[in-house]
Amino acid sequence: MILFELKCDHDHSFEAWFRNGETCEAQMAAGEVACPHCGSPQVAKAPMAPRLVKTRGHHVEEVALKMRAALTELRQHVEKTCDYVGDRFPEEARKIHYGESDPRPIYGEATPDESKALKDEGVEVQSIPWIAPSQEN
Ligand SMILES: [Zn+2]
Repeated sequence: MILFELKCDHDHSFEAWFRNGETCEAQMAAGEVACPHCGSPQVAKAPMAPRLVKTRGHHVEEVALKMRAALTELRQHVEKTCDYVGDRFPEEARKIHYGESDPRPIYGEATPDESKALKDEGVEVQSIPWIAPSQEN
């Protein structure tokens, strides 16, 4: 939706909502837009920039930005507090679980199958959404 400031032939200014600029032009040309002050259908757009209203799409973008920020924070927290073991994750997770390695928080890569196998063995594995550093703002 676009808000246009319109002016009638008696110099009354008023605002009206339109689906888009084309609809505005078409409705004015058809005489469907009347001045709320004097009822004159002789209206024209006042010289001003149309204002866009936030649409659902914009809201989604805001949520996506917040989520990205949260995921970036999560990644930074994990990187700060956990040992990165890369693709040795399943192996290390098992060692810690069976007491062959010092208990410590670790993170790394595991395939869904590997994660499932670990979980089946009772190893606590948490999958977290991981945001790549290149996706940061
Ligand atoms: Zn008027």
